[in-house]
Order: sequence, then C-alpha cells, then structure tokens
Amino acid sequence: MATPKVLFLIADGMGDWPLAELGDKTPLEAAATPNMDELAAMSLMGTIRTVPPEMPPGSDVANMALFGFDPARYHTGRGPIEAAAQGLVLDPDDLVWRTNLVTIDDFAPSALMRDYSAGHISTDVAAQVITDLQEHLGNDTFTLHPGVQYRHTLVQKGGAVQPEADILVRPPHDITDQPMDEDFAAFASSQRLYDLVRAAFERMQSLDSGAANAIWPWGQGRPLILDDFKKSFGLAGAVVTAVDLVRGLGRAANMAVLEVEGVTGLLNTNYEGKVAATLDFLQHGDFVYLHVEAPDECGHSGIASDKVEAMQRFDARIVAPLRQALAGQDVVFVVTCDHYTPIVERTHTHDPVPFIAAIDGVAPNHTNTTFSEALANQADIHLDAGHEFLPWLLDRIHNR
Ligand SMILES: [Zn+2]
Repeated sequence: MATPKVLFLIADGMGDWPLAELGDKTPLEAAATPNMDELAAMSLMGTIRTVPPEMPPGSDVANMALFGFDPARYHTGRGPIEAAAQGLVLDPDDLVWRTNLVTIDDFAPSALMRDYSAGHISTDVAAQVITDLQEHLGNDTFTLHPGVQYRHTLVQKGGAVQPEADILVRPPHDITDQPMDEDFAAFASSQRLYDLVRAAFERMQSLDSGAANAIWPWGQGRPLILDDFKKSFGLAGAVVTAVDLVRGLGRAANMAVLEVEGVTGLLNTNYEGKVAATLDFLQHGDFVYLHVEAPDECGHSGIASDKVEAMQRFDARIVAPLRQALAGQDVVFVVTCDHYTPIVERTHTHDPVPFIAAIDGVAPNHTNTTFSEALANQADIHLDAGHEFLPWLLDRIHNR
C-alpha cells in the first residue's frame, strides 16, 4: 500500500489532571470534543514519554522528540531552536539565549516574577523595545534579535566556550509570582550578563514598552543542527505554528514553514488559516505538523474554563474541518500534545502524553469512544522515548 499522508495535530500543553472545579474531570474530558472522540474510536491510543526523565519538560525538548529527533542527541537549548526559526547566521561557538520580555516587580532578587509574557506584549511593540535595547546596549559580545510577541533571542559571540554556557536561569513561566533569587545569583555569576540585564531594566523604565520592564535570558546553547526530515523519514514535511521554537525545529530539519496571517499562539488564533495552509501543502507534501499553542498558554494562566474552551476550539476548528476536507483520503491523523501543562501547576510536567493515531486498515487497540488522559494511560501502547513515536507510527503504517 502506498504511503499515506500523515497529519500531526498538536495541542500544546493539552495534558492535565482532574480538577474539582470541572467535576473531577480534566479540561480535555470536560470539553465537548465530538470530532476527537469520533477519531479516537477508530484510533490506536496510548501514551508517549516525550521528555526524558533527566531533561526539563519544555516544549523545545518535547516537540523535538515528536519530530523524531532524540533530544539527548540533538538538543542544545531553547534559544538555539528559536534562532533557527529566525534564520540567524551563527558561528558554531556562539551561545544563543532565548530572551523573554517579562514583567518583574523590581530589579531585586527578592522581587517577584509577575509575568513571563509581559502581558502578552504585541510583536510590534516588542520589536520596538528589542530594537531600542540593541541600539543602546548591544556590543561586540551581545546582540539582541527581535522575535514574536514576548519571545526574543540574545546571541553571545563565542559564548559557547565561555562560563556563561553553564549558567542555569529558570524559564520565567516556571516562576510566576515567585522570587527571582536563584536566577539573580545565576545572572550575577557573569558580570557582563548581569550588567546587560540591569541596563535593560533601567532603560525600559523610560521606554513605551507596555507591561514589559525587563529582559530574561535563559535556555542558552550552541546553534541547533538537525538531520533533514525527508531523508530521515521519507516524508516531505511542513510545520504550521505561531511559535518560533516549532518554526525553528522545522527550519533546522529542512521542512517547509507555512506562514499564516493572524496566528497568535492564543485562543483567538487564525484556526481557519492554519487549516487552509495545511490542506494546501498536502496537495503535494506528505506530512504536516500543525501546532496550536493556546491550551498551553491557558495552562500557564491557570484558568480551567479557558483551557476547556481551547480544547473545544481545537476540536471544532482544527480537527473537524481537516477531517471533513480529507474524508475518503488515505490520511493518518495523530492528535497529541508535547507535554502536560496542568492548571494547578501552571507549568509543564513530565507526565507521558496521551495520543490517538487513526490509520486506515489498522484496528483500534481499545473500545473507547472518547479521548482522555486516563483512557490513554489505561491503553496498552506506551512509548518510552518520544523520538521513537514517528518511526513506530511509520512502521504501523507500512505493515498494515
Ligand atoms: Zn508552556
């Protein structure tokens, strides 16, 4: 049988734990998701350990694994993935930092991290801020590059062989409303890095920067190098996403990066545009990694009803129209997430993620008529290494 088209529909941060306010259901269970339920009934179901136990449960690690690349081998940091998205030209010894625009209470270790996203600052305002900071604070060592919304890049020339390569600054979304003492100690271990972060804070007092009043460099590493996706897996692939880290993975693997107007990474994203771009690519391509960020953002904000809504929109405006448009064609549908972002934690966890995979001609391994974390945990397919999921799936497809 010919190789079918393969669609990965990724609801970032979808996985969650039962919540009292949702009647002891998870957001996925509480949401009305008739299209995923229908798909689940005809799918293989199970879990994937997308993040190795010894690595932090970030979208960078987890998405890289779902693309079929072993994070233990390829992952150098989050900054490098986003730099790949921006097409930055880098030297092998450069150190690339993901840099958030954030809101902090004060420039002091005991002050609190208020908002890792600076009030979800717009890309336009953020670009003005980063450009201003680069003009006034950039130097031979440090260069700031504007990215999307609150996500930017700081390149430290030759930094991969400097002490800064080993500094551990926590992701700002992990320390919402917490003191920043550990991180200030980390910044202060490099005088030049500390000076840059402090100078940015001081300059932003007088800038029209919305809620943003500080930069937060973290997730640093050497430039990212991945293998060619088509050579590795035999599929001409593309990514559709609002976030630079998924773009970066796609670009580094020589996949097409389909740009869609009006994607935001939030509940109000351009779902229809993402679906249209996906269908267009599948006319000639084989594989689309369609990523929706909203469930993760809702998990970070800790608002259960928003996360329920995010799953309902994902079901009604991503899953439904794609299934409708591709009905009768040999298309493998996979629905999963990169990691859990439990509402009660407001950050990511290591829980193995639930997946469904509908392959024409492959019988389900269960009798469920809905899709949930609990049902996936009870099923009998559990992949212990995330990067083995795609090869495992292709094996199921080729042996059907
Ligand atoms: Zn997240």
